[in-house]
Amino acid sequence: MSLQEITARIAKAVSNVGRPAGSVTLIAVSKVQPNERVQAVLEQGHRCFGENRVQEAVGKWPAFKEQYSDVDLHLIGPLQTNKARQAMELCNAIHSVDRPKLAKTLARLAQEIGSCPDLFIQVNTGEEDQKAGILPVDADRFVAECKELDLPVRGLMCIPPVDQEPSLHFALLAKIAARNGLTGLSMGMSSDFEQAIALGATHVRVGSAIFGERVKPQG
Ligand SMILES: *Cc1c(COP(=O)(O)O)cnc(C)c1O
Repeated sequence: MSLQEITARIAKAVSNVGRPAGSVTLIAVSKVQPNERVQAVLEQGHRCFGENRVQEAVGKWPAFKEQYSDVDLHLIGPLQTNKARQAMELCNAIHSVDRPKLAKTLARLAQEIGSCPDLFIQVNTGEEDQKAGILPVDADRFVAECKELDLPVRGLMCIPPVDQEPSLHFALLAKIAARNGLTGLSMGMSSDFEQAIALGATHVRVGSAIFGERVKPQG
């Protein structure tokens, strides 16, 4: 598939549910993709990208940002506190805020740096042991804690379990966001972004459907 096709499918999904045009941001997930493929998508005019590892993002994006100053880079993978500063300096948004220790580190660094990327709190809607994210039962308290730290929390993020109907998880995430007064919903990937849009996604994270299968295995 191509960027154009994905953009068209997003526009159609948005209009099908009567949402305003342009209400969904496409994050093109470029992790482990060769630079030529990323360059090609930049040349088509797309500027919003997602990476799931700080190390990889730091190796790849400063050079692209020199070429294209309006790149909008989103960190969508787990963040260790010792990489938080690098992530904050490079990224425009972080979708993986998932624990109090990380929230406190981000708040301290935001004071030092004088700015903070847009933040999304990752919720482990499937309550999976191997997956990052705050548990649904702890989400309200954690959102409140982040707000008390003056963090710019824009919304919530989830990655549904692979073997379950994603819509149930999208609906749960939307419900938690609504009761906490949050408007951003980072949900939906290559296989289910249309369902996510129907349930209110504001940010979809699409990788393989734009770039093709990842060449190297995902780390
Ligand atoms: C890799 C990844 C995606 C994109 O996955 P595709 O199935 O290739 O669209 C989305 N979100 C996160 C958190 C990812 O790690």
